[in-house]
Amino acid sequence: MQQAGEPSFRESVDLMFNRAARLMDLSPGLEQKIRVCNSTYTVRFGVRLRGKIETFTGYRSVHSEHMEPVKGGIRFAMSVNQDEVEALAALMTYKCALVETPFGGSKGGLCIDPRQWDDHELEQITRRFAYELIKRDLIHPAQNVPAPDMGTGEREMAWIADQYARMNTTELNAKACVTGKPLEAGGIQGRKEATGRGVQYALREFFRHPEDMARAGLTGGLEGKRVIVQGLGNVGYHAAKFLSEEDGCRVVAVIERDGAVMDPKGLDIEDVRQWMNQSGALLAGYPRASFVAEGAAVLEEACDILIPAAMEGVIHLGNAGRIKAPLIIEAANGPITFGADEILRRNGCVIIPDMYANAGGVTVSYFEWVKNLSHIRFGRMQRRAEEARSRLLVEELERLSADKGLGWSLAQDFKQRFLTGSDELALVRSGLDDTMRIAYQSMREVWHSRQDVEDLRVAAYIVAIDRVAKTYRSKGL
Ligand code: GLU
Repeated sequence: MQQAGEPSFRESVDLMFNRAARLMDLSPGLEQKIRVCNSTYTVRFGVRLRGKIETFTGYRSVHSEHMEPVKGGIRFAMSVNQDEVEALAALMTYKCALVETPFGGSKGGLCIDPRQWDDHELEQITRRFAYELIKRDLIHPAQNVPAPDMGTGEREMAWIADQYARMNTTELNAKACVTGKPLEAGGIQGRKEATGRGVQYALREFFRHPEDMARAGLTGGLEGKRVIVQGLGNVGYHAAKFLSEEDGCRVVAVIERDGAVMDPKGLDIEDVRQWMNQSGALLAGYPRASFVAEGAAVLEEACDILIPAAMEGVIHLGNAGRIKAPLIIEAANGPITFGADEILRRNGCVIIPDMYANAGGVTVSYFEWVKNLSHIRFGRMQRRAEEARSRLLVEELERLSADKGLGWSLAQDFKQRFLTGSDELALVRSGLDDTMRIAYQSMREVWHSRQDVEDLRVAAYIVAIDRVAKTYRSKGL
């Protein structure tokens, strides 16, 4: 969706990188080494479908191998192209560095409209694409580990994992070749919701800092804040659901490909999503809110928090000046172009940047990869031991109370919660929450401590580039 007069997505990412790099003390050689994309593999393969051979084009781009494996999703969409895959691979490098997942950055894409093919055909296509990448080690537990992205999900990851296992029958760590798998194929609890959950944790952390909220002219907490979400796919749906159900936000508009639904009192996200699933259509015809066919215009409606969760380039030179949201959190990768970013900043908008905001996905992918390599579910060894220790304490308190005639009794709800050991989901959420808090704090530290750092995006790039540079230097480069 590149608009006239704007740089391409990859150029936009590079320009953002340059804004930060000029504030850093990097040798020009190292700066260039970090910025450039190491390699992009293009494959064209044929699959016999519906009586004829269909040719597909796919990519796997490796941006930086300062750490291995390299990590990043595989996207299925008609808009996939080399420039996009390279931009997304670069963002993966910075994202992984910022949230301290020990990976380099990579990304893949297949030029395909998944809705045009039935399940069996898609499986054939996915397996064939995976085969092409696996035989070149572009899918490999120690070298390159894909995950879901736009147009792909658990099902595709399970096919890829199985394809890898078939081609590497004695590889003990085969399952770790891809993340975002279903639980029964070696996945982890909480991966599917992870990116949306990460958006929620990111906002909670932002709202813990009154100084940062003041920059956006916001006060109070998340309760009652008006939210507009663009894209009710996996990321947008989970973010909107958690923010409305758990934090009291009012999602006043949801934008999809065919238009938007609006309700100033707040939409029931579960109900909207169910409507989309059942009707097989998008939002048109949704009976419990008003429908606006011109969805893009709804991005410009008044709200407190705007969450672009669809795709890149949706806020551009053409509409940036009309955006009213004082706070934008980039749940998608690259939703704001370089030029739009400048306009928004000038207008006082605070942007929580993509490389941080949507890092929940890769964070939980990291946990899944570790789970696969350790061949054991998180919490399996500790959970009951933890419960037994808590029970000892509760019983001792109750005994003391009875002995001394104190009449204490612990609230049933407290007891219940205190006595329950952490299962895998609880551990994953705790690890994700911790990651999102720490990464935010590392960004804001740079944001507030340096006069020349205007915004969170530059701060995020500085933290990320600095970490990548340190890794390269430690290798003697
Ligand atoms: N595709 C997701 C992203 O853009 C997840 C990547 C991963 O889990 O490796 O961050």
